[in-house]
Amino acid sequence: MNDNIKTAMVGTPCQILAATKINKYSEKTGGSSIDIKIGLFCMENFSYTYLKKFLTEKDININDVEGFRIEENKFKVLLKNNDMFTVPLSETDSFKRKNCDICLDYTSDISDISIGSLGSPKGWSTVIIRTEKGKEIIENAENEGYFETKEISDKGKKIIEKIASKKIEKNLENINVREKVSRPVLYTRNISDEEIEDISSKCQFDNLESDVISEGACVLCGACEYVCPIGIVEIDDRKPQKFGECKEDCHACYYACPRTFLSKNVLGYNFKAKPLGEYIDIISVRSNKIKGQDGAAVTSILMYLLEKNLVDNVSIVGEDEEISWKPVSRLTNDVEEVKKAAGTKYSTVPIGFKALE
Ligand SMILES: Cc1cc2nc3c(=O)[nH]c(=O)nc-3n(C[C@H](O)[C@H](O)[C@H](O)COP(=O)(O)OP(=O)(O)OC[C@H]3O[C@@H](n4cnc5c(N)ncnc54)[C@H](O)[C@@H]3O)c2cc1C
Ligand code: SF4
Ligand code: SF4
Ligand code: SF4
Repeated sequence: MNDNIKTAMVGTPCQILAATKINKYSEKTGGSSIDIKIGLFCMENFSYTYLKKFLTEKDININDVEGFRIEENKFKVLLKNNDMFTVPLSETDSFKRKNCDICLDYTSDISDISIGSLGSPKGWSTVIIRTEKGKEIIENAENEGYFETKEISDKGKKIIEKIASKKIEKNLENINVREKVSRPVLYTRNISDEEIEDISSKCQFDNLESDVISEGACVLCGACEYVCPIGIVEIDDRKPQKFGECKEDCHACYYACPRTFLSKNVLGYNFKAKPLGEYIDIISVRSNKIKGQDGAAVTSILMYLLEKNLVDNVSIVGEDEEISWKPVSRLTNDVEEVKKAAGTKYSTVPIGFKALE
């Protein structure tokens, strides 16, 4: 890793957790260039293969899709001819990733800035400012004219709290059910760093496989592939696999994985106690210049960071050049590429950790 390179990363809560663990246990994992974490709100995510299959069964060609939205408990598919296909969220189970059933983080609690649509009017993004670094970015970018901001309404704030709490309640029930018939869901244990050291220093990829991957808890974040010092982990569409023998005394993938243990120093409370995590302020943000999924807050912030040379590159999730809506993660310093990556791709992709310097 080049210590002088600074990266801003955008990701779902589980990906943000992986980035946090990679840096926190940098002596074990090798660390990363991620300096600013921009987390998205996330209720669930889908498998690209099964999403496409579902659409085909409904006579929709994914090439004809203009965009996807989740709102009012519905999954909405906007077609290029302006037709809208809508299904209740409860009918998305056939293509939802099962690991999302045990996820307790709705608002990317350990990022610098978290961004979603819930809580703000149409065309605006909801922005949770969590750290001093995040606060400075939002204030300066607004002063430089990258976007406008306004107070979030009390109603908006309450709805985010309600939905985050609902996700936690429902998924805690799912965790209870799973743990009765299967192994513990480790990341909910919230143990000390000493205990983590004690356990993780005995674990390698085979333990990751039995504790996380074969338990249906893998979020496909790509952290294990990125930190492996000898490059024997590969992730296909479904799961990480190991091709070769582990290096003696290496435990990097076990430390980095967001679904092994979570230290009290990473998350100092349990998710149920603080459904939105710790934060400084919640506001609504809108760009008048560029188009995004909601208020284009994410894209505007990334443009500001690149144009003011506050980071060297940004990690984004764009669309495959040839396969419609297939998410591809990229590391870039090209503002035009960042603009092109705006919009939510509702399917899982290993984040571009692999491309990090
Ligand atoms: C899987 C998923 C589920 C979500 N669920 C909710 C929800 O339940 N409630 C809610 O309020 N908001 C949810 N969001 C966030 C919401 O869809 C918008 O991304 C957010 O409001 C930011 O909008 P924007 O206009 O500011 O972003 P834009 O300016 O459009 O930028 C979007 C950024 O998101 C990144 N991105 C796109 N797809 C992915 C992906 N699959 N994984 C990682 N990064 C990606 C791109 O790199 C891009 O930079 C979800 C996002 C994702 C990816
Ligand atoms: S595990 Fe699923 S619900 Fe949780 S943050 Fe990741 S993609 Fe979203
Ligand atoms: S060598 Fe083995 S234990 Fe180390 S990161 Fe690679 S797969 Fe994991
Ligand atoms: S097993 Fe690998 S890809 Fe899956 S959640 Fe853990 S680190 Fe991420």
